[in-house]
Amino acid sequence: MKILAVGWNYSDHVQELNPGLKPKSPVIFMKPETALLKDNKPFYLPDFSERVDYECELVVRISKMGKNISEKFANRYYDAIGLGVDFTARDLQNEFKKIGSPWEICKGFDNSAPVSEFISKEGYDLKNLHFSLKKNGEVVQNGNTADMVFSVDEIIAYVSRFFTLKTGDLIFTGTPVGVGPVKINDHLEGFIEEKQMFSFDVL
Ligand code: MG
Repeated sequence: MKILAVGWNYSDHVQELNPGLKPKSPVIFMKPETALLKDNKPFYLPDFSERVDYECELVVRISKMGKNISEKFANRYYDAIGLGVDFTARDLQNEFKKIGSPWEICKGFDNSAPVSEFISKEGYDLKNLHFSLKKNGEVVQNGNTADMVFSVDEIIAYVSRFFTLKTGDLIFTGTPVGVGPVKINDHLEGFIEEKQMFSFDVL
């Protein structure tokens, strides 16, 4: 399986990191399978970064193989949603941005993609879905998919031009405003609407 992720998909977050930038198409990157962290296992801070940021994101799970999927039919290609954290070694990313290097190391390192259990998308309006992240009991990110620059269906149509999507692939759909660093002994909890999706420690 593969993990695809979208950068800069909420305009308030784009302005937070890249003032003035207006993406014309989704910014796509990938994380390897070894980035997955499941079952609320703790996230261990890596020794190669002084600044790892949380980015809480809605994640969709692909349920059918597809290539060149049209936006109109994209909703037939995913059946479940979850919540994840796109951990980012921000200090490394800032260095890479300066010299135009790819992001893989800062975004795809081991355990950089904690994900919750997945739940059926039925009954949820993915065009107006609220999700949030608490750090040590305090809400630090509040997102609503209504604020996405590119909708889930647009993202699927776009990425499937380049990558065949296969059952079980995951797509991280971008983070809202409010990203920030984690430190040892922080506790992160993520929610879709009122439902707690994950709860894990940073060690
Ligand atoms: Mg992200």
